[in-house]
Amino acid sequence: MKAAIVRDKQFVVDEIPTPVPGPGQVLAKVRICGICGSDLHLFKHAEELLSTAEAAGMVIDKNSELILGHEFVAEVVAFGPDTEQRFNVGDRVCSIPFRKQGDQLLNIGTPAAQGAYAEYLLLTEEFLVPVPDALSDEAAALVEPLAVGVHAVAKSAITDSGSALVIGCGPIGLATIAILKMRGIEQIVAADYSPRRRGLAQQMGATLVVDPAEESPYQSFSDEPNGEFVVYECVGLPGLLKQIVDQVPKQAKIVMIGLCAGDDSYTPLTAMMKEVQIQFVYYYTPEEFSQSLEALSEGRVNWEPWVSSKINLDGVANAFRALQDPEREVKVLIEPFSK
Ligand SMILES: [Zn+2]
Repeated sequence: MKAAIVRDKQFVVDEIPTPVPGPGQVLAKVRICGICGSDLHLFKHAEELLSTAEAAGMVIDKNSELILGHEFVAEVVAFGPDTEQRFNVGDRVCSIPFRKQGDQLLNIGTPAAQGAYAEYLLLTEEFLVPVPDALSDEAAALVEPLAVGVHAVAKSAITDSGSALVIGCGPIGLATIAILKMRGIEQIVAADYSPRRRGLAQQMGATLVVDPAEESPYQSFSDEPNGEFVVYECVGLPGLLKQIVDQVPKQAKIVMIGLCAGDDSYTPLTAMMKEVQIQFVYYYTPEEFSQSLEALSEGRVNWEPWVSSKINLDGVANAFRALQDPEREVKVLIEPFSK
């Protein structure tokens, strides 16, 4: 099969053996796969992210080649041994991006388990979720990133009268905005330096967009010091946590969603005097993954503006370059079988 493999910090499209499903696994044909911000981080900072992940207990197979891709929609092709075969061959499915291997749980699209920047991949049967016929591949590819928003908003425990500030309007910021909008949150302020991303934030439900180079995104919240205020950090750069702690109003809650592998220090006294709460979030639960699929299936999310282009495996290297520029790309979808 064909796959876009990371070799020596570059993408190489190469023929490799099609994997064979083990116990409880299915072989699935990739219909579409989104490029995630974490893929960009993994591509750029593979080594430091890997040592951080390893230290945190993630299983890493150093001998396997890195094939990214965890935002996939696939078609069931064949069943391994010890499977229940609840699906038919040809059924469209998606799944949380984990694969069971014996008693280990491997992250798909990392050095631990091959991802979906390839024609085929192995999935764990019990994690498969059917994709309803009415849901397009494009929309279904957004189930995974949208689930990150579902989880972040759930963890923030924001109430209907709360005010939200979303910092960073890349895919995860947009997912968070979409879920806040779906939840009926009245004030959703979004901050990003990119005019295009501010426009998208508005299309996805932000009630006010701010260019942080021009004005403070906290400004519109300063007159309501007793209101509930939640900041969703969706950038993932060192220094942002400190900046937020320094600038938020008293009693604010900070939800850290952006993937940051560098150090970020803040002054606890500042956070204490404001009685700030800081919540870190990671992935989502299987239930939240299903809620995300449901939200998209029921047409409750305006997802179309989110997808900026579709490519095949040969286009991955270029797409990674284009994704560096927020004016050019937002969410790129790979169709491994398209010409
Ligand atoms: Zn992702």
